[in-house]
Amino acid sequence: MTTKSKAYLIGGGIGSLAAAAFMIRDGNLPGGNISILEAAPILGGSLDAAGDADRGYSMRGGRMVTTDNYECTWDLYKSIPSLTRPGKSVFQETVEFNERHQSNSMARLVDRRRAKTPVASMGFSMQDRLELLRLSQATEESLGASRITDHLSPGFFETPFWHMWSTTFAFQPWHSAVEFKRYLLRFMLEFSRIETLAGVKRTIYNQYDSLVVPLQTWLADQGVHFVTDCRVTDIAHKTEDEKFVVTSLQCVCAGESEAIAVSDGDLVFLQNASMTDASSLGSMTHAPAQRTKAESGGWTLWERLADGRPEFGRPQVFNSSIAQAWWESFTVTLKDPSFFNQMKQFSGNEAGTGGLVTFKDSNWLLSIVLAFQPHFANQPEGVYVFWGYSLFPDRVGNFVPKSMTECNGAEILTELCGHLRFDPETTATANCIPCRMPYITSMFMPREKGDRPFPVPSGSKNLAFVSQFVEIPEDVVFTVEYSVRAAQMAVYELMGVERKVPNVTPHAKSHLAQFEALLKAFK
Ligand SMILES: Cc1cc2nc3c(=O)[nH]c(=O)nc-3n(C[C@H](O)[C@H](O)[C@H](O)COP(=O)(O)OP(=O)(O)OC[C@H]3O[C@@H](n4cnc5c(N)ncnc54)[C@H](O)[C@@H]3O)c2cc1C
Repeated sequence: MTTKSKAYLIGGGIGSLAAAAFMIRDGNLPGGNISILEAAPILGGSLDAAGDADRGYSMRGGRMVTTDNYECTWDLYKSIPSLTRPGKSVFQETVEFNERHQSNSMARLVDRRRAKTPVASMGFSMQDRLELLRLSQATEESLGASRITDHLSPGFFETPFWHMWSTTFAFQPWHSAVEFKRYLLRFMLEFSRIETLAGVKRTIYNQYDSLVVPLQTWLADQGVHFVTDCRVTDIAHKTEDEKFVVTSLQCVCAGESEAIAVSDGDLVFLQNASMTDASSLGSMTHAPAQRTKAESGGWTLWERLADGRPEFGRPQVFNSSIAQAWWESFTVTLKDPSFFNQMKQFSGNEAGTGGLVTFKDSNWLLSIVLAFQPHFANQPEGVYVFWGYSLFPDRVGNFVPKSMTECNGAEILTELCGHLRFDPETTATANCIPCRMPYITSMFMPREKGDRPFPVPSGSKNLAFVSQFVEIPEDVVFTVEYSVRAAQMAVYELMGVERKVPNVTPHAKSHLAQFEALLKAFK
C-alpha cells in the first residue's frame, strides 16, 4: 500500500463512508485516491431521510444510539466537525443535545384499553429467569442456528420485558438465539432501564442530516470521489500466492457499462447486501409496492462471489424468507400541532423525551416515536414529523379490516388514531408515507459459524466486506456501530494500521453476576 494506491468502496452506506474516513485519518491515504460507488442516487444507504413540508418527509428508520456502547462510531465522529455547532465535533454536539433532552419514557407500553401499562415489573416467572440465565451463559457453538423460541417458554413472550425488548430492538420470537444472547450481553446496561429508555441517546436531527451529511461533507473536503447511480455487477479476480486478488470491477453507471481496473496495491471494500434492499414507499393513497431481491438485484453480487467460496459466507441464510424478515415503517408529516399536543397530554412526555410508545395489544404490534422537533434540517416551524413501525404488518388491523401491507398512509393513520382514541381531525393535515422493507431483519435470521464472512476473509489479499452481514465477535447487528466497526477492522487489517480498533466494552463479562442479580430482582 502506497500513497499511489487507490481504494474502491462498493456501496455508499455509513459502513463505506466510515471506511473512507478511517483510511484518510488513520491510514494516511489521500482522499483523492478513494472512490465510493453507490447504486442509489444518493449516499447514506439505510440511513436515509428526505422530503419537505409539502411533499411530506420520509425516513425508513429512526435510530437510537448509546454512549455506553458505539465505541467505533464515536471514535470516528470525534474527528468529524459538526455542521451546526462551529468548533465542535459531531460527537460533542450529540452529547450536549442529549444532556438537554434526556429520555424518560412515561408511556412505554399502552394496552387495548388505551391505558399505560405498568412496566416496573418485567413479569418474569422463575422458569423465565432460569431460561434467560441459561441462554445468556450458553456458548455460541452450542446455540448454533437455533431460534429464541427454542430456549424460552411461551409465557416469556407475554412478559412486559419481551414487549419492550422486542420492540426496542425489532426482535421476533423466531430470530437467532445467538443474536438475542449477544444483545442481552451487549446492552446489559439497558436491561435495568428498558422501561424508561433512559440509556437511549438520539442525534439532533434524523440520522441522514446528523450523521451522513457531516461525514460526507468532511470526505468531500478531503477530495473523495462519490459516484452515484453506479451499480457494481461483477468482480474479476486472479489467484496469487493462493490469495484472492481483485483485478477489476464491472459496473453499470448512469446506464452505461464500464470496467474499472484494480491495480496491484489497490483495495476494494464491498457492502455485501443491505437490510433496506428492495424497500418501497407508498403514499396517502397507495400501499407500497411489494418488491423482492429479484427486482432489486441487491444481493446478486454477494451471491455470485460466495458461490463455491465458503470463506465469503452464505447469503441464502439471510435472504430466503421475507416472511420472517420483513416489516413496515411510516413517516407522518403534520402541518398543525394537535397530534403532538394530544400525545404530550396522553403520554406525559414532551416530544424527544419519550421514545417508543408501543401499542402492545395491537394486531400489527404498532409503535411510534415523537422525536425532538425539528427532526429535519430543512423542516419549517409549524411542521411536525414523527415515525412509527409495525412488527406484524401481515396481520389484519384492529380498526382497519386489512393487513398493514395492503394499507395506504390514510388507513395507517386510521389504525393509529383508533388505538389512541384520537378523533380523525387530529391527523387532518397529515401526510403519512408508508415504507415496506422485505429484508429489514434479515441479519437476525438464525445463522451458524461461517454464514457470514469476516471483514477480511482468510485468503483475501485486497478485498474486504463492510456490512451488517460480516462476522464480528461479540458485537450486535442492526446497529450503525456494527457497520462502522466492520469498516475500522477492515481498513486497519488491509492497511496494516497499528492503532487498535476500540474494544467492545466488556459490560457483559464484568456484569454477568449483575445480570444474574437483575434477573432475580425483576419479578
Ligand atoms: C428501520 C430501521 C431502524 C434502525 N434502527 C436502528 C437503531 O435504532 N440504532 C442503530 O444503531 N441502527 C439502526 N438501524 C440500522 C442502521 O441504520 C444500519 O445498520 C446501517 O445504516 C447499515 O449501514 P451499512 O453501510 O452497513 O449498509 P446500508 O446502509 O444498507 O448501505 C449499503 C449500500 O450499499 C449499496 N450497494 C450494495 N451493493 C451494491 C453494488 N453492487 N453496487 C453499488 N452499490 C451497492 C446499497 O445501495 C446501499 O446504499 C436501523 C435501520 C433501519 C432501516
